[in-house]
Amino acid sequence: MLIRSIETIPVAVPLKKPFKTALRTVTIADVIYVKVTCNDGRVGWGEAVPTHVITGETVGSISYAIEKVIAPQLIGLDIRRTAILFKKLSASIVRNTSAKAAIDIAFHDLIGQRTGLPLSMYLGGFRQTISTDFTVSVDEPEQMAEDAVCFVADGFNVLKVKVGLGDIKTDIKRIKTIRERIGFDTKIRLDANQGWKPRDAVRAISLMEDSGFEIELVEQPVMADDIEGLKYVTDRTLTPIMADESVYSAKDALRVLQMHAADFINIKLMKSGGIHEAMKINALAELYGVECMVGSMIETKLGITAAVHFAASQSNCTRFDLDAPLMLSEDVVTGGVVYKGNKIHLPNEAGLGLMRNAINLTSNESSQ
Ligand code: MG
Repeated sequence: MLIRSIETIPVAVPLKKPFKTALRTVTIADVIYVKVTCNDGRVGWGEAVPTHVITGETVGSISYAIEKVIAPQLIGLDIRRTAILFKKLSASIVRNTSAKAAIDIAFHDLIGQRTGLPLSMYLGGFRQTISTDFTVSVDEPEQMAEDAVCFVADGFNVLKVKVGLGDIKTDIKRIKTIRERIGFDTKIRLDANQGWKPRDAVRAISLMEDSGFEIELVEQPVMADDIEGLKYVTDRTLTPIMADESVYSAKDALRVLQMHAADFINIKLMKSGGIHEAMKINALAELYGVECMVGSMIETKLGITAAVHFAASQSNCTRFDLDAPLMLSEDVVTGGVVYKGNKIHLPNEAGLGLMRNAINLTSNESSQ
């Protein structure tokens, strides 16, 4: 089972409405699908997402990295020899984690197909179904509260609210307005996307604690590379703090864990470079008694299906932020995970569980 070809296919899917965080506004999900074909005709699929404000990658950089740099180093390798496969993939280029994630996902799809197991079973098989939160974009407080009411009505009992844009007073008003509208039956977790300075983060979180807003956790309050700042916030607040942009690799995770700089880690395949490294991050976190959330970028159902297989397979992954496909105006993938309210169900087929003609690009541009 040797790798014969690795192809890239750019895909653009408009969002139902603009998605806003402290870092950016997104209106179109620009992604790159990767198709890995083996000499026995078997095909594995992966997805890369250019999130320039987080991983530094663009559609152009991902296509170039895969086609010109990574693929030539992997053609001819045996899909069964995973120790060689993932070592070569990891060493093929520094950073470029989304480009590597797409290939890692396609490899895992093929490994699952070869073993005859759904990928989640191959990885550990802890759960078959997970529940996701739904994300409230950062906006004017009234608009956010309006959105929150709609998501709760749709069956979501955990909301992830984006903050960190503008001053702390505005963030407090955002949460106050949302709580007044939805009450306290719904869990609220916050994501500041690096928008606060350490001292401001402590002030904001303490004010929210004093106001009784009942915040489950706060994700990435400070700049990604400010691990001391992250620890400063974690040490001074009762609300648990989660590292997201601060942790890409197992090495990053180890530093955060050894310093006790965060209470939780958010794993995303686009940051870790795929499932292989994600398993290492989760194993390290488990060793330190730190639970992981599995999240995503603005990905389509292909990348999310891979993330759900990983997330469901591990007992230490206890929180899930995998709502991105619900924000898209269309679904170009046949097969994969199925959404019902806030529940995500895994397919029973081997590998990722995509259908034979999984990718329907009739209404999208595709090139190759
Ligand atoms: Mg985040």
